[in-house]
Amino acid sequence: MNGAPDPDHTPWSYLSAQLLHHLLFAVRGQQFLRSQAGLGGRRWPVFGVPGHSVALTVDDGPDPQWTPRVLDLLGRHRITATFFLIGARVREHPDLARRIRAEGHRLGNHSMWHPQPFAALSPARVRAEIVETQRTVEEVTGVVPRLFRAPGGNWSPKVLRATGDLGLLPVDWTVNPSDWRSPGTDRITRRLSRSRAGHVLLCHDGGGDRSQTVAALATVLPRLLDRGLRFVVPGGDGD
Ligand SMILES: [Zn+2]
Repeated sequence: MNGAPDPDHTPWSYLSAQLLHHLLFAVRGQQFLRSQAGLGGRRWPVFGVPGHSVALTVDDGPDPQWTPRVLDLLGRHRITATFFLIGARVREHPDLARRIRAEGHRLGNHSMWHPQPFAALSPARVRAEIVETQRTVEEVTGVVPRLFRAPGGNWSPKVLRATGDLGLLPVDWTVNPSDWRSPGTDRITRRLSRSRAGHVLLCHDGGGDRSQTVAALATVLPRLLDRGLRFVVPGGDGD
């Protein structure tokens, strides 16, 4: 392949990320591991992408201060990301949701109000959070999201079942710089820089001061591009 990345080759980092995340799930949700084959649907969310690629996911917006800065950065580097939107914020900032879409990014569902712990909600409430967000995003942007991320990554069989019943693909992550805690630009940069082919990166454009996230992305994005990584959306192309 003349040293060029083979887009069809599934790299070891992807496989190891999958394995690691099954283990992480074992720790994160013991209830989940006791889960039951009879449920139907997916047992695990997606937390990898194939090929010599990574997926950048941006949660908790849109936010009038930070979303435009993230979008400017992505535009400058011609990178496509997935924005997991909170329905209530889409209602508050419809123009921003439309801008995200107009600039070619994928819109995902991140619940209406971001209640936590999400898996503790009743099945009816879980469903309502997802359905209302679907409706809101469609009304505002014309797009019906196909991807869902549970607030806080708080998956359970109940959450996965609602996600599947509503025709959505659950998407988790593999690289979490904990940027929502504002741990310092250097730390976010270091963690994101460790991303390898197959990984799904998590960061935030809402829910607080995201200046560290924006500063870290400004360094990390060109670095990952220089390593030949392509930015894709989880679950493949199309809405
Ligand atoms: Zn969130």
